Amino acid sequence: VDISAKFYRGYQDRLHQMKLLEEENERTKAALEIKSQFLSTVSHELRTPLTSIIGGLDLLNNGVLGEVPENLKPVIGIATKNGHRLASLIDDLLDLQKIEAGEIVFHLKPIDADDMVAEAVESTIGYANKVGIQVVTVPCVEECRFMGDRSRMIQVMNNLLSNALKFSSQGGSVTVRVENLGTRIRILVEDEGVGIPNGAKDRVFGRFSQVDSSDIRKVGGTGLGLNITKQIVERHNGTIDYVSELGVGSTFFIEFDRLTDTGGACAGAELVA
Ligand code: ADP
Repeated sequence: VDISAKFYRGYQDRLHQMKLLEEENERTKAALEIKSQFLSTVSHELRTPLTSIIGGLDLLNNGVLGEVPENLKPVIGIATKNGHRLASLIDDLLDLQKIEAGEIVFHLKPIDADDMVAEAVESTIGYANKVGIQVVTVPCVEECRFMGDRSRMIQVMNNLLSNALKFSSQGGSVTVRVENLGTRIRILVEDEGVGIPNGAKDRVFGRFSQVDSSDIRKVGGTGLGLNITKQIVERHNGTIDYVSELGVGSTFFIEFDRLTDTGGACAGAELVA
């Protein structure tokens, strides 16, 4: 009798523990849901008025409202720069929230990597010229196609390119290379910039983290770009990594399954992340 009573108590205890765990799980799920909704609401509520603030500043900057007095120009310049900074932080937060909530829908179509790289490079060339950095493109030439959401892939390329430019110095060059690996394709963004110390991978791909904390003030950024980029790439069945040497430069590379004619491209597929 004693043994079975003991056994029964043990059983009751375990049941109780399981119930507690289940309740804890439910509470965590509810808290995550609230966090996600909160982030989404706050971001939207911030984004809308900010868009009109930036719009107003742009009107001033473009001279549409008449000549701005010389002494006001620096103030308006600083407000514009910080307005754009805030906007990109909010956009990153919205992206993260959508990725976490599984709300990002990727519209998958065959993408020609050379073509996509050319488009991404074109959109950053103005900035590169301004800061005196040469951007070189080395195409794959053979057919290097993969399935992806074009606008998200451009976002990925823009993040890698803007980092490469941000961490380079005047006179340096950035090379974007597309390689055919047979069943995979690889896109590399090489810079001759400051480089990244060993053991910093978690910080590089983490959230709100920058390898050098003084970067936030020096070169700007939110520390979210590569985290978002990694999630987008991985949800395309791709990989992202880098090699780097301090003072020499960094090479970031992404890889995807290469589409071949026999591979059966399914145009227009949708993938909910
Ligand atoms: P941020 O918006 O701050 O640039 P990212 O997530 O894009 O955020 O990058 C995170 C950090 O990784 C950067 O702050 C920087 O410390 C490091 N990093 C990224 N790309 C490079 C690069 N090409 N050269 C040197 N450091 C880099």
